[in-house]
Parts: sequence; structure tokens; C-alpha cells
Amino acid sequence: MPTPSSPRIYMDNAATTPVDEAVLAAMLPFLSEVYGNPSSLHSWGREAQKALDTARKTVASCLNTHPESIIFTSGATEANNLVLKGLAHSLTSKGRHIITSSIEHASVHETCDLLEQEGWEITRLPVDSDGFILPDALQNAIRPDTILVSIIHGNNEIGTIQPIEALGKLVRERSVLFHTDAVQTMGKLPFDLTRLPVDYLTLSAHKIYGPKGVGALYIREGAPMPTPLLTGGGQEHDLRSGTENLAGIIGLAKVLELAVFRMNEDTPRIQALQENLIARILETIPNAELNGPRDVSLRVPGNAHFSFPPGEGEALVLRLDLKGIAVSSGSACHSAVIEPSRVVKALGKSDEIARATLRFSLGRHSTQADVDRLLEVLPAIVSREKTAHRAQ
Ligand code: PMP
Repeated sequence: MPTPSSPRIYMDNAATTPVDEAVLAAMLPFLSEVYGNPSSLHSWGREAQKALDTARKTVASCLNTHPESIIFTSGATEANNLVLKGLAHSLTSKGRHIITSSIEHASVHETCDLLEQEGWEITRLPVDSDGFILPDALQNAIRPDTILVSIIHGNNEIGTIQPIEALGKLVRERSVLFHTDAVQTMGKLPFDLTRLPVDYLTLSAHKIYGPKGVGALYIREGAPMPTPLLTGGGQEHDLRSGTENLAGIIGLAKVLELAVFRMNEDTPRIQALQENLIARILETIPNAELNGPRDVSLRVPGNAHFSFPPGEGEALVLRLDLKGIAVSSGSACHSAVIEPSRVVKALGKSDEIARATLRFSLGRHSTQADVDRLLEVLPAIVSREKTAHRAQ
């Protein structure tokens, strides 16, 4: 266990982040004082509706788009499901082919698996050894019956940022709809939807110091509407029935506003720490293999993803946890069998490399002292895990 004097260090900001105090303060009145249902006609309802409208305007202005383009959801998982399943159903007469990548978040990957089982054709584009989509492969995959291309912007495991503007342009030239999951980059990098050739974009509040359980789907004005997943009261322009999570939505608006305001200061500082962490791990740990590009400007700010073979990422997570340091491993644990990370395998790497993964994700509260402390304990932990693994 960490000794009482040793600091607890959180390096898992890609999984989730604490709610910012200003965000919490903005949300609190909407959990108690302003409790009307935005659909109600009376003044309580009108007050809630006004706050909802303001939040929608704020989110839209942070993205440089129109409020009508923003659909609030219960998070990015729902937004991704809505765009994929919803368009698959609303555009069936146009075609049944969807293009995505081999390194999507589970909420896109598994949704495509399901659509595939139901008869849609899915093309999963390969990536190069740093995790970038090959534009030629995308170009060649587009067919007359392609209804949608869905490509993650910043990868949640290996951190690779796709050149979304160039990919989107290419898709638009072929008159196909384009969706991107921007959960890991939103609030960390600038977004201007008047310039970005995307038709749909997913975002979530809890990766950028907002509450869990709230996100949004941007739908470009004039783009086809997905068939709703949730039907009922007709909220969110009939696309997402259910009484709105007003406090959460207020939190999402506040957090985006803050992130945009702080970005010029936070992002370069976090990138400097990220560079320091990556360089020192590569220098000090034998066989450490960086996954994703070496240039931090091509990675999600704060992301550092390594393989430390041989061994299991989960064992390293637990060993670091005993030292009070929170990180994550990319591979998923299914029925007690540790699966190698499918994202790392998509880079062309072996099962051994794809099993020995660790993701460090720095955030707004990370400091140089945190990175120094990690580098103090990590070499011995990795070496112990290698010995333990070989002894098995
Ligand atoms: N997409 C990406 C890239 C993510 O990192 C996550 C969160 N792990 C999600 C989607 C799902 O987000 P949420 O938790 O809001 O459903």
C-alpha cells in the first residue's frame, strides 16, 4: 500500500477526470432549486427550458456551430450508438455498407459488430504502425452503397490523432457522410465545425472535468437524421426521448466553456509533461516500446502508451496501484482471460506486445513531481514483472 506520506498520483485521465469545482457550482442549483421539467408549461418548466436553451447555445458556440445541431445524450456511448444504428436504419434504402477503422472505441467497434450480424457490411480500415489510417485505403473502400464513414479522432488507447480534416474532405468529395468520435480530443485541441468537413461528431463531458453520464452528438444542419434509439416524449428534436439530465447538461456546457478558455495554457503544459514522460521511459526502461507516434503533437495531449514485454499490463497496473499510482492497461479482461489489446494488434504488433500494455494519461492536475515519482518506481516494477512472468 502507499505509505501515508507517499502521494497518490492519478494518471488515468483518459478513463475519467474529477469534476471541476466551477462546473459543480454551476450544476448544483439544477439539482435542487431549478427542478422543473423543461417540457412543462408553467414557470418552473420555462425556467428549466431557458437553462437548457442557454446550455445548448454555449456548447454550440464552443464548437462554432448552431444550437439546433446539438443533441444531448447520456454520454458518448449513446451518441455513437445513435449515429451508427440510427443512420444504418434511416438510410437502408441508400445502402448497407459502413466504413470504420480497426482502432475504434468499443462503443463504435461493438456496435458495428452488431450491425454486421444484422446484415450490414462493415469495412474496418487498417492502420499503419503508428495507428494512422491510410487515406488510399479509405478512398478505395468507398462504394456507391456506403452510407457512413466513422473514424475516431484521438484514439483512447494509443493516442494517435487522425488527420480528420483531410480524411473528412476525402469522404465529402465522394458525397458520403462522415462521423468522428472526438471524445479524447474535445476540449484539448481546437474544434471549428464551420471548417471541419464532418457531418456528425461525438463528445462526452467526463473526460474533461465534467460529470459522467452526459454527452452530445453534433449533427450538421441538413445532414440526414438517424432513427432514434429512444422513443417516447420527443425531447431533443425527437431524436432522444427522455426528460433531460439538466444538471448534467449544464455541467457539459460549463466544462466545454472552461476547456476552451484554458486550452492555450493547459494543452502545452500537459504536452511538455507528456514529452518528458515518454522520453524518460524510453531512456530508462529496456525493451519499453512506445505505441502510437513519437511526436506528441500527433498524440492526444497527455497520452503515453507503452508495452513492457514480457508480462501482463494488468499486473503492472496492480503493482503501480500498490505504490499509489493510477494508470490503465489497454487490454480487456473477459471471463478471466486477459485478451491482448485489439488496437495494439492493429498496429501489426505481436500478442506479447499487445498484452504488456500500459496507458499513462496526464491531465490538468498532473505535475512534474508526479512524472518524477512515476519514473522513480516504474523501472523496478517493470523488471519485477518481467522476472515474475518468466518464472511462470
Ligand atoms: N469514445 C471514446 C474515444 C472514449 O474514450 C470513451 C470513454 N472511454 C467513449 C467513447 C465512451 O464515452 P462515455 O463514457 O461518455 O459513454
